[in-house]
Amino acid sequence: MTPTRFPVSIEFFPPKTPEGVEKLRVVRQQLYALKPEFCSVTFGAGGSTQEGTFSTVSAILAEGVPAVSHFSCIGATRERVREQLAILKTMGVNRLVALRGDLPSGYGTGGEFHYASDLVAFIRSETGDDFHIEVAAYPETHPQAKSPESDLKAFAAKVHAGANSAITQYFYNPDAYFRFVEEADAIGVQVPVVPGIMPIASSSQLMRFSDTCGAEIPRWIRLRLQSFGDDTASIKAFGLDVVTDLCEQLRSGGAPGLHFYSMNQSVATMEICRRLGL
Ligand code: FAD
Repeated sequence: MTPTRFPVSIEFFPPKTPEGVEKLRVVRQQLYALKPEFCSVTFGAGGSTQEGTFSTVSAILAEGVPAVSHFSCIGATRERVREQLAILKTMGVNRLVALRGDLPSGYGTGGEFHYASDLVAFIRSETGDDFHIEVAAYPETHPQAKSPESDLKAFAAKVHAGANSAITQYFYNPDAYFRFVEEADAIGVQVPVVPGIMPIASSSQLMRFSDTCGAEIPRWIRLRLQSFGDDTASIKAFGLDVVTDLCEQLRSGGAPGLHFYSMNQSVATMEICRRLGL
């Protein structure tokens, strides 16, 4: 019997320029060698990148690979969400990552949805079981949550509203992930929770991102990265070791797959998967 492949999925963001579109096409071809379960494309709240999301999703589908659209609801009306769901269905998309999203500054707070759980419930009420719905999970707690308990309840609410599975925010501390999964299980939330993996390619970019999304970079990793200064070769080599080790711990500890935040680059994701034998 052929052993089942350990599932890997890969995330992209929609490029903003024709050069970016071409570069991502090449990157995708390289990453398809990993035979991803699906490739997903992020979605900008407030309309900033939504056309780019749909055209990138179309391109992936045309390449014969399952494509997943992220879909955020903050600032949106029910009518607009209904229209966009219809477009995605016509395109042949059958899996979504349903999110609240964050509005870019200057967009105010309007819109008819407050939380991702409202969006999940709306998608289910409008489209039944047409879509497999993924939601976001935060092993280190979402930065706006009142407490870890209330964030876990918010996660449970998304599953009770109809989500099938989840992808986590990235993290470098596997204990946070395992504890989160255990705590969800203890309150009866048993959907697959796939860890989101952020390869480390640049120290300053990682620090910037992590500060805004609330992902913790453990002190020992931060210090080592700082000590490399501008030595990008050492940063990359260290990053590959750290992230491969993290993935190995997650896989051997029972994680149901790995979701790579590729940042539209192929090298680090490919190398980590090669080291993992995937
Ligand atoms: P929610 O689950 O709604 O949670 C948001 C906050 O509200 C949390 O603090 C939660 O604890 C709290 N909350 C939820 N329900 C309640 C309630 N009933 N009462 C009180 N508090 C509540 N952003 C994008 O713009 N585009 C993307 O494509 C995108 N893709 C992502 C993919 C993944 C896998 C992840 C992990 C994040 C992604 N994000 C994306 C970022 C995400 O939009 C932000 O983290 C956003 O701030 C929260 O979205 P959410 O869906 O997790 O929100």
